[in-house]
Amino acid sequence: MRKTVGILALQGAYQKHVDTLSALRITPVLVRRPEELKNCAALILPGGESTTISLLIQQYDLYEAIKIFAASHPVMGVCAGMIMMATEVDDKRVEPLGLIPFKALRNHYGRQVHSFTTAIKLADSDFNGNAFPATFIRAPGITDMAPQVKILACYKNEAVMIQADRHLALSFHPELSGDTRIHEYWLRNL
Ligand code: GLN
Repeated sequence: MRKTVGILALQGAYQKHVDTLSALRITPVLVRRPEELKNCAALILPGGESTTISLLIQQYDLYEAIKIFAASHPVMGVCAGMIMMATEVDDKRVEPLGLIPFKALRNHYGRQVHSFTTAIKLADSDFNGNAFPATFIRAPGITDMAPQVKILACYKNEAVMIQADRHLALSFHPELSGDTRIHEYWLRNL
């Protein structure tokens, strides 16, 4: 049977994740209400604007629901979604979910005009050694990780992709690359 994976769709860049999941023969479901998590085997928190996403998560009553879901299901946070996964953010307007113990630094890689795509090396042997085309758009930085957090990729010696338990958090947008390896890696144990 096909697996169903949720994509938080309150604001931001969720459509390309629909395409990536579909390419992997996974059924994507857009999540806007807590009860929509019930059928999901995993959840993607997409990019967008973290201050807005944070407010909407509260308004749509999803804050506790996502935390409870994450205690037993994989979550992947991309860019603004990665900021939401942190335990601490350098902007007090964001109330992060605390799914991975690290601090997120908003706009660490510059403004929209400084967006770039670069080939990064993925650490894990599951990625068969080939570089990944990583797109950074007003991308956040990752710092102050707890010891159990595993670094899967770096850019200029700074972590840009981390893992803790079943959760992944990324500074860059894997869904814009046409390369499904990161989504596959995250979902490999479903
Ligand atoms: N800079 C945005 C933020 O802080 C994130 C950008 C993105 O998700 N592409 O929320």
